[in-house]
Amino acid sequence: MIRLEALTRLYRTGSEVVRALDGVDLTIERGEFIAIMGASGSGKSTIMNILGCLDRPTAGRYLFEGKDIGKISEDSRSRLRGREFGFIFQQFNLLPRMNAIEQVELPMVYQSGGNRRKRAKQALTMVGLAERMNHKPTELSGGQQQRVAIARALVMSPRVLFADEPTGALDSRTSEEVMAILEGLVRNQGITVILVTHEQDVANYADRVVRMRDGKIIEDRMNRTAAEPTRQERLAVG
Ligand code: ADP
Ligand code: MG
Repeated sequence: MIRLEALTRLYRTGSEVVRALDGVDLTIERGEFIAIMGASGSGKSTIMNILGCLDRPTAGRYLFEGKDIGKISEDSRSRLRGREFGFIFQQFNLLPRMNAIEQVELPMVYQSGGNRRKRAKQALTMVGLAERMNHKPTELSGGQQQRVAIARALVMSPRVLFADEPTGALDSRTSEEVMAILEGLVRNQGITVILVTHEQDVANYADRVVRMRDGKIIEDRMNRTAAEPTRQERLAVG
């Protein structure tokens, strides 16, 4: 579904050039649950932003379902982003004065009112927040706020969910709640989840771990031993 070829992203600040990404090759299949790990500054957010069409590479190719994303217009890119991608971040990026259901309705600007409300309720129910629909962010715990952000990302039925350090602001118990929701989306809805984290506990939820250093991929491995069931096998059983 996703293919990066010799992807490079340079940042120029004054006379300095930073190679945030340095010739990255990566293939991600539909329905994968992949964690990108690495120290601070290794290029994790840069690769996520390019994958999510929030940023463009300096060189190299990004193919999404065979289409060269570097060759399509800015309009097509933002349509792709709106239709196929959902995003969650470390800071939940909720609007302080809106209650949960209003936050989740926000992406559905082109839908009729009744439909908006119905779909927002469904999304909040999926993340276990049906009882908290009328609460504002200050009236919700961190984990609940992140779940509102997940519902907001899901309401447009994305095929890929990008999560940049989604548990970075949460304690370990709440992190587990949030990761269980992401895992459920992969297992039960077939959503592709691309997660950035520097916490091993969090990365352990993923099926595959890609490790970065200095803008390069230094390791890419499956997160299980050969004796353990694959994701599909687990799906078939449970
Ligand atoms: P990570 O998310 O792994 O911490 P980033 O992808 O944010 O790393 O950054 C990778 C490198 O690119 C770092 O050296 C960072 O300082 C640099 N960088 C990121 N964004 C910018 C920017 N907007 N301008 C200049 N340098 C940047
Ligand atoms: Mg980052």
